[in-house]
Amino acid sequence: MATATLKFPEVKNYIKGHFVDSSGEKMDVVSPLNGELLSKVPVSDIDALNNAVAAAQQAFPSWSATPIKERVQILFNYRTLLQKYKAELTELIHLENGKIKSEAEAEVDKAIELTEFAVSLPQLIPGEILEVSQGVDCKTEKIPLGVVASITPFNFPCMVPNWTIPNILALGNCMILKPSERVPLTAHRLAAILKEAGLPDGVFNIVNGTKEIVEGICDHPGIKAVSFVGSTKVAKIVYQRSTNNLKRCLALGGAKNHLLVLPDAQVEMTASNITASMSGCAGQRCMAASAMVGVGEIDHIIEKVCEEARKIVPGKNLGSVISKEAKERIEKYITDAEKAGAKILVDGRNTVVDGMEGGFYVGPTVIDHVTPDMAIAKDEVFGPVLAIMRTKTLDEAIAIENNSTYGNAASVFTQSGGLAKYVAEKASAGMIGVNIGVPVPREPFSFGGWNESRFGAGDITGKSAIEFWTQMKKTTIKWNPEARTNWMS
Ligand code: NAD
Repeated sequence: MATATLKFPEVKNYIKGHFVDSSGEKMDVVSPLNGELLSKVPVSDIDALNNAVAAAQQAFPSWSATPIKERVQILFNYRTLLQKYKAELTELIHLENGKIKSEAEAEVDKAIELTEFAVSLPQLIPGEILEVSQGVDCKTEKIPLGVVASITPFNFPCMVPNWTIPNILALGNCMILKPSERVPLTAHRLAAILKEAGLPDGVFNIVNGTKEIVEGICDHPGIKAVSFVGSTKVAKIVYQRSTNNLKRCLALGGAKNHLLVLPDAQVEMTASNITASMSGCAGQRCMAASAMVGVGEIDHIIEKVCEEARKIVPGKNLGSVISKEAKERIEKYITDAEKAGAKILVDGRNTVVDGMEGGFYVGPTVIDHVTPDMAIAKDEVFGPVLAIMRTKTLDEAIAIENNSTYGNAASVFTQSGGLAKYVAEKASAGMIGVNIGVPVPREPFSFGGWNESRFGAGDITGKSAIEFWTQMKKTTIKWNPEARTNWMS
């Protein structure tokens, strides 16, 4: 049988500064834009993970002893190279994930911003020192943990790995990245860019694979801390398994983000924000607005949302979803909602893009008269679909938001400062928007949800990352005991 040609060379693991061949099973990496075979990715076994951890352990003494001001010089170079290779990275993200090029480019811009935060860490990390008793000083320092791991999802092949890479490295740790097996090409390229930036071998390693590697990371005694970003189902497994093995873990999960829309909301801005939020990255964002709760008379806003949604052209300003299975799952949610009595105002089912017939597209979809008990109102659909629920009062709308098992983001659209403040106070979500469809905090503010959107303490970026990727050393020092004494001296 003839072997299909690959657009890119096979993806390899990256261990001790080298791309290494691995025997065993390989999976296809397929572009969801058109079904084209891009590459193959190894489904690594535990030996590969053990090798990567050993390499990272070997690199750790020297890397952690390098002053932070020197470590971040390499990240300055990395930032410059991300800028230099932006077009190439944009193309890779576009091809393997299926998002449109402007969205792919925004991911690289965000990775640059995340790196800029990390290079500022020398300004944020200094410890404290105080004479706590006569002749006795106490000082605190943030010390690296050792070898740590970061497990990432398919929907942001560049941004999400960079939520952790620059901070982990600046803070003096060595790491293993386990990218999503569906989008391994961008991470593969990032490894080469880090090497070009001057990162010593072994500090950063990639082990590709699936469940076995994720479980291996949770179990490996050489790995001190694990961050995970992905679905809630797997986040729970990773959090439980890692902490059961006495590791530090922060596991970010899925989401169902509510937009509460009041009748006084500014129509144009509200409609364009809602539409962009539900359809951006084909709805495959943990910050996507997938549930809108309209309070009172909001038909004029829904009309405008539909008008905006109809302007979106799949294949042009709307990318593909990740797989055939994802397309089928999303379309089933729409069909089930229709059967349950909801009204489809804009229907994105059965979308085919000319010339891209092998791709997986769902057009923008707006569904009205959804009720809170329907699956489409409760579950993470992860497609360009907006489910609209209606309530008579604001408190009913807040109750719907509060009943969600998730808690990533919630937004309110209104021109009333008082009502916006009321919603912001009552919403049960980690990231709140006021007249903002995608309320992602930008650096230096940290990213992280609540409830089943996040397991563990703190957030994944910003100053929270300093706490997560370091441990505090407290040193109490006395040099001249005879000088002055009291009960503590
Ligand atoms: P996923 O949970 O399927 O995969 C995430 C990672 O876990 C991948 O590296 C994958 O190889 C691994 N994995 C998958 N199944 C596993 C299993 N059974 N056991 C162990 N490991 C397993 O998530 P995904 O489909 O790649 O990404 C989409 C999800 O990620 C959505 O739910 C989205 O909301 C979420 N997400 C959340 C955030 C956030 O900040 N909260 C950000 C981005 C994406």
